[in-house]
Amino acid sequence: MNPAVLEAYGKRFRSLRCDPDQGRPRPHKAVMLLSVISLIESGRLASNRIVYDTDLTQIFARFFELVRSGSDKFTPFNPFFHLKSEGFWHLHAVPGKEAVLSAISTIRGRGQLESVVAYASLEEPLFILLADPTSREVLRKTLIETYFPHRAAEVLSASLEESAISSAQQILEKGNTSAGPAVAEAIRDAAFGRTIRKVYDYTCALCGIRFVCDDVVLVDAAHLIPFAESRNDSPSNGIALCKNHHWLMDKSLVAPGPAPNGDYAHPIWHISDALDSRLEAHRACMEYKRRPLLLPRDHQFHPMQTALDWRMDHLRVG
Ligand SMILES: [Zn+2]
Repeated sequence: MNPAVLEAYGKRFRSLRCDPDQGRPRPHKAVMLLSVISLIESGRLASNRIVYDTDLTQIFARFFELVRSGSDKFTPFNPFFHLKSEGFWHLHAVPGKEAVLSAISTIRGRGQLESVVAYASLEEPLFILLADPTSREVLRKTLIETYFPHRAAEVLSASLEESAISSAQQILEKGNTSAGPAVAEAIRDAAFGRTIRKVYDYTCALCGIRFVCDDVVLVDAAHLIPFAESRNDSPSNGIALCKNHHWLMDKSLVAPGPAPNGDYAHPIWHISDALDSRLEAHRACMEYKRRPLLLPRDHQFHPMQTALDWRMDHLRVG
């Protein structure tokens, strides 16, 4: 680590060009940089390629809620785009959209950003500094003390926790049953939730509803064999469901299980006999009987046989 290079970036971090609001800089750029720092610290950003995705906007949302004031709007796409004016943040166009990217000076929303920008990258010396724990700490503290001195302890604590969640998420995405014995409950829970929602592409495995708006995701992550019983947080013991269908599965009125010929590789939805086809709300649910589960593309994340058996054993009998 070269101290002069570190100091130079410290100076640039202290003088970010932020849209002023009543004498204080808007928090967006500093929050985006803190979010990227957490992703680098967790090991999820091993290469210098920052994609605008829900992993990033969820972390952004956590910091933003801590530091926002009055008229600040939740617009993570803005700092992702406008950080380019700092010189150390480079935008890379979606192939074929290079001319569009160089012509635009503002961004209207996530859709426009994703249609034009493939990813961002940091100036290489900065990426190297942020990959190093000592210099990363210096730059993180520079951002926090410059922009959020009134909430410094909380932002630092959230930053470390977000790194731990992302790190645990990375372990679960490799198919492990646990992110580690010493992982705190809140971190374990957040990592399981984010992993399941992501591998299911934020889609309900029963009805297929998918609603994503920056950090707002409609689906829940549910354990198939409850964690208290299984101690298993692996994606193959989880499923993404919308609120209604999560509730129906919790009440044992629907269950994922094998196809009639005992085919566990192509599981289907089983519906409890307790439902009554004469009732409209019940009928809406019964329409999903024997429909295939909407599963992740990656087969390693599909529900394991013992988890499907557990759900079938608990399906309510009418
Ligand atoms: Zn649903």
